[in-house]
Amino acid sequence: MILILSPNVDEQGPDYHRLLDFLNNLPNIQVRLHQERGTQQVLSEIYLIGDTAGLDINNMEGLPCVERVVRVSEEYRVLGRHKDERRPTSFDYNGVHFGQDNLNVFAGLCAVDTPEHVEQMMRALQQNGQVCTRMGAYKPRTSPYAFQGHGKDCLPYVFDLAGRYGIKVIAMEVTHESHIAEISRALEQTGNPTGVMLQIGTRNTQNFELLKNVGRQQDFPVLFKRGFGITLEESLNAAEYLASEGNRRVVFGLRGMKTNMSDPHRNLVDFAHVPVVKRLTRMPVCIDPSHSVGLRDQAPDGILDLMHVAAQGVIAGANMILVDFHPAPAKALVDGPQALRLHELAHFLEDVQIAREAYEKRAALANRYSSSPHTQ
Ligand code: PEP
Ligand code: MN
Repeated sequence: MILILSPNVDEQGPDYHRLLDFLNNLPNIQVRLHQERGTQQVLSEIYLIGDTAGLDINNMEGLPCVERVVRVSEEYRVLGRHKDERRPTSFDYNGVHFGQDNLNVFAGLCAVDTPEHVEQMMRALQQNGQVCTRMGAYKPRTSPYAFQGHGKDCLPYVFDLAGRYGIKVIAMEVTHESHIAEISRALEQTGNPTGVMLQIGTRNTQNFELLKNVGRQQDFPVLFKRGFGITLEESLNAAEYLASEGNRRVVFGLRGMKTNMSDPHRNLVDFAHVPVVKRLTRMPVCIDPSHSVGLRDQAPDGILDLMHVAAQGVIAGANMILVDFHPAPAKALVDGPQALRLHELAHFLEDVQIAREAYEKRAALANRYSSSPHTQ
């Protein structure tokens, strides 16, 4: 059960103390406080975990400081959508809005290799009006002998260049909790020129200790990728680890499923799950066409498979696209074969825009039909 408190509740006040006293004395119930600091107000919610079946909603709504009560039956208590849900489906970070209602593109390098390539990428992004990117510094690789990413050594120049080219958010995978501190330190040392969205890769979807650590920090939002070999439900439960530890600024990423049934694509594209995740949870949904498709093959209509798939995700309502680009794919140290070229960025963005407009028209159409009276 979730108790939603009145905005800006006074935590020192007698009413708040009376409320907590009452809750803490309920038998077999654990009390957890969640706070969300917006620009205008602080929203507090109290999660009651345990034997809540006997609690009466009306009685709970009559408690001091309580505005509303939501009874949760589903597993994803914090991130899930529940009956009578009116909690937010969006958040803002470093001036960028992330919600189930909009779309952000994160085009960039799968892995940072040289400062020159980072700068070329960022310049192209700025020329195309983009303020987000992806830059992998810590790369989880199948082989221990493959390039593992430059790690913390590349962070200062990546952040400096991001600031110079107006990049506000960089998606960057972390594979160990120590990486969070390294990123914080590098941001501080460079004067916080940009922001970072911590990425949990598909190989770490169920690394629960990493998830708890990433969930305990509130500085950075998280892009959480689904596991490539587990069910959607298992991945959503894993995402809930982040939120149950306190960080609910989570974007859920679809990136394809591992099976040879997807041949010749690298993974089986799972973007039909975009509306499913939006229905079950309040998370914005990201699609990653690059790691789903894994190659630059082109259909007879002249459109790359990668762009076809991106459009399919966007027309289904995706809210974020993570996509690999590289100024010189032949020289890329990771995933060159799936990278789009810089001269393809404008094409890609225009194609995405067509799909987004089609999605908006489809949503308006659905609303129009659902609000018109039934005729039969
Ligand atoms: C990536 O985005 O760089 C990546 C490794 O993706 P995934 O975890 O989905 O394989
Ligand atoms: Mn990659």
